[in-house]
Amino acid sequence: MNAARNDPSRDTTRPLAPGQPSAVQDSATGLPQRGWSVADTLQRLETLRSDDVRWKDGRVFSLAYYAGPEAHQLATEAYRRFSGENALNMEAFPSLRIMQNEVLAIVAGWLGASATARGFFSSGGTESILMAVKAARDQFRHDESRPVTRPNVVLPTSAHAAFEKAGAYFDVEMRRVPVRGDWRADATAMAAAADDDTIMFVASAPQYPQGVVDPVAEVAAVAAACGANCHVDACMGGVTLPYLARLGVELPEWNFAVNGVTSMSVDLHKFGYAAKGASVIMYRDAKLRSFQGFITDNWLGGMYGSSGVLGTKSGGPIAAAWAVLHHLGDDGYLALARSARDTTLRLAAAITSDPRLVLRAQPDATLLSFGAATDPRTGNPALDIFAVADLLRARGWYVDRQSPPPSLHLTVNAVHAGTAEAFIADLHTAVEEVAARPAARSGDAGAYGTLE
Ligand SMILES: *Cc1c(COP(=O)(O)O)cnc(C)c1O
Repeated sequence: MNAARNDPSRDTTRPLAPGQPSAVQDSATGLPQRGWSVADTLQRLETLRSDDVRWKDGRVFSLAYYAGPEAHQLATEAYRRFSGENALNMEAFPSLRIMQNEVLAIVAGWLGASATARGFFSSGGTESILMAVKAARDQFRHDESRPVTRPNVVLPTSAHAAFEKAGAYFDVEMRRVPVRGDWRADATAMAAAADDDTIMFVASAPQYPQGVVDPVAEVAAVAAACGANCHVDACMGGVTLPYLARLGVELPEWNFAVNGVTSMSVDLHKFGYAAKGASVIMYRDAKLRSFQGFITDNWLGGMYGSSGVLGTKSGGPIAAAWAVLHHLGDDGYLALARSARDTTLRLAAAITSDPRLVLRAQPDATLLSFGAATDPRTGNPALDIFAVADLLRARGWYVDRQSPPPSLHLTVNAVHAGTAEAFIADLHTAVEEVAARPAARSGDAGAYGTLE
């Protein structure tokens, strides 16, 4: 990666055509002295992306989702048309309010929410989770019947890293409780970890690391008994689970139909196949939602209110999500969920059939993770799973690396239907090669997200 960064052919300050006026840089600002033409600029953008992973080819099992060229082009076009519109003020842009409300109504249906549920469109799963934690914190600050001195959230070790971010941003303690042997939340242990300062419990549908759905009903019952909120993180499953249930996949109860569930997060920029920057945070009622917003007049600019983290907020993601939801339709999402699920099961079967690999859990939805089988003689992993990932990367496949325990992670979406067989073949070859090495050098542990 660093070698590529130092490659002079990727230097964006390099003149495109030496001697052209557009190639001269202003020494103070670093900007071109004469602005680049549209064509030159677009050409440079294309050059810049030459080392990016090729997610539309189905070789990336993380970070990006693809329902085909038509839905993608529609998302891009809708985004382009509304990219300059500002959802900070929906009085000025009533179109964005209408689109937001229609998107929220569709998501409420997927979540089994009643007519009293209220939500907001947000920029992503992280913002949805930040806001759920912030709303719970402020709700209990205002609740005199249940004084809280130092708020905490009780959550399984499998819940997303975004909850840690929320805890750090809003000064709420995150109490992690180990998952059960089947990687699912341990409701009994979570109950034992709670105290009078517990404001929220968390369950995921499914959780990211091993792709299993937590026992939402058990966690919600514990939360209700404690008088605390229960957030269900359905960032991954909010769109797929309703369709998987219709396809006959056996699932535990996971949504607002469960008593005690007070808020849910659903990412439209994942299995909604919308453009990036699209998620929904849904609350059981308007009262809880009211603690999310922020309003002030304590400055010289007058009354200022905003629903979430952002101030100025592009209309692009809202328009793209609205357009893609309506274009794909119910039948589209059903077909996409079926495709992703079938591919997930094919991959799971291939991993199970390789004695040197172990599937961490039978996938409940469309995510799975696997590691090296244990060597019965040493009790250690039979091979270095990150070295397998390195070989896959060299063959153009991008998979997530995670731990503990050291594992590879696949988020399987509709684009993988056509590439899963080739992936399986390359996976078996890579495993073969790593297993044959005498004392393998460790593979790179990678990172889900990076700072820079
Ligand atoms: C992706 C994800 C998040 C975070 O969402 P972002 O859109 O990356 O901010 C949270 N929870 C789960 C289960 C996720 O899969």
